[in-house]
Amino acid sequence: MHKKKKINGNSVKPLDTLAKFAKLEFSEGEKAAAAAYPFLATNYYLGLIGNDLRNDPVYRQCFPDRRELIRHKNLSTDPLCEEKQMPVPGLIHRYRDRIVLLVTNRCAVHCRFCFRKRKWKTGIANQDISDEYLQEAFKYIRRHERIKEVLISGGDPLMLETSRLKEIIDSLSKLKNIDVIRIGSRMPVVLPCRIDTRLVKMLSEVPGLWFLTHFNHPAELTDESAKACSMLTKAGIPVLNQTVLLKGINDDASVLEELFRGLARLQVKPHYLFHVDPAEGNAHFRTGVAKGLEIMEELRPRLSSICTPVFAVDLPEGGGKVPLQPDYRLGKKYLGINGRKILYP
Ligand SMILES: *Cc1c(COP(=O)(O)O)cnc(C)c1O
Repeated sequence: MHKKKKINGNSVKPLDTLAKFAKLEFSEGEKAAAAAYPFLATNYYLGLIGNDLRNDPVYRQCFPDRRELIRHKNLSTDPLCEEKQMPVPGLIHRYRDRIVLLVTNRCAVHCRFCFRKRKWKTGIANQDISDEYLQEAFKYIRRHERIKEVLISGGDPLMLETSRLKEIIDSLSKLKNIDVIRIGSRMPVVLPCRIDTRLVKMLSEVPGLWFLTHFNHPAELTDESAKACSMLTKAGIPVLNQTVLLKGINDDASVLEELFRGLARLQVKPHYLFHVDPAEGNAHFRTGVAKGLEIMEELRPRLSSICTPVFAVDLPEGGGKVPLQPDYRLGKKYLGINGRKILYP
């Protein structure tokens, strides 16, 4: 058995202790939202909040909002129907060649826009995947030879102790059909000191390992987060970034331009820009798909292909991710300029 040592020493919990921290007064609505979806953040991440407080992009990502309690029939606790696509608890099998393995429900920060808010629990002793379910997952992967890639997610997989994570990754690496292992973690953004030399050494020894992180705003690009990313890239681990398009936080071409440029400078490839999924508790962050397309169109002449992510929406009912592009049909943009056909008739 592994030892259970929790990586949460840097986390701040109750909303009350924070009132003192930031001299904030919370409304009844905000308290009710925090009762439904507990507040959790790291001291480091809270330290990024600027004087603007309630309008601050970091504040808005981690502090409760009364609109989280909005309920209507188009919102679901599980908009992507992940629970229905779990042949084994914790293993989501949606595509032919790749699966997601949820190894813990715990995170260092509770992001208010999360689409897995149904998994937020407090006071439950063990929210990590059990050995029993892990063995079932390995068996399932072995039986389904077409699975070539495992995406380790959660929660945040780096909430597990490095030695436990190593056990899991080593077992996955030994499966003959597995070529690529992805780790999806927000630690470089919310608790960069978690990316320590021991972790990086362990990860760098895994063949086919990719690291996916989750920056949403240029305010999150700090010396500390840059160091976390560069430790990974210097160890030969490719780092990609997924951003969620968030209303009032980053739904602006200039903000995203600065973010994507900053990431590319760190050799972190902007990979996906996601539209918010229709989950209960995050509807107020949705921009609408049209807004995302408008921003992408604005960014195209301003940003290189390296700096530009793919804008995608995850279809409801487990339909999968669909990339969306502004309308670049040749006929519309490049044919018939001044009445002359000039390109690809
Ligand atoms: C996002 C996702 C993947 C990975 O898809 P990519 O487009 O390769 O990033 C795999 N399985 C599930 C269930 C997913 O949600």
